[in-house]
Amino acid sequence: MRFLNLFVRWFNKKFMTDFITTVGAKSFFPPALFDPRVVDDQAVMVECHEFIHKWDFWRNEMTFGIKYLFSKKFRRDAELRGYTMSMYWYWLRFGTRVEPDTYVKHFTSSEYLYMERDGAYVLKELAARQQMFIEYEDQFLVQPGAEPYRLIKNFLKIEGLLNVSG
Ligand SMILES: [Zn+2]
Repeated sequence: MRFLNLFVRWFNKKFMTDFITTVGAKSFFPPALFDPRVVDDQAVMVECHEFIHKWDFWRNEMTFGIKYLFSKKFRRDAELRGYTMSMYWYWLRFGTRVEPDTYVKHFTSSEYLYMERDGAYVLKELAARQQMFIEYEDQFLVQPGAEPYRLIKNFLKIEGLLNVSG
């Protein structure tokens, strides 16, 4: 984490305080952002997003971290999966859509080291994924790579956190 911070700090001075970062299977929650004694919806949503990265980490034969750091395309694809989880979480929890535009700046800014310059591509991808889990959830959940989304849905169901229509 410290190493990663040194690496990223030059690009983004707020890295250690403003962002929740997953390295391998561990998430690092900036203490100012969440009080660990209070489990709130926002924290659960973030943890669900990070769960996708943990899942992908264990499925990538330990090369996930290196690829994530040094390949923009890999990082972009990993974050498309992560932000799809964020949108899916809002849908499952509250039955609300997220304006995919909300996330585009994460992809195109220094925040993740400019992992995708084409904001229109990101917008199109996120919108398509959201439309798919809303309109064709059964298909969404059986796509290759969909297992962590199924697990999260099941987790929310068990915890009684699914909205009534979910
Ligand atoms: Zn992420």
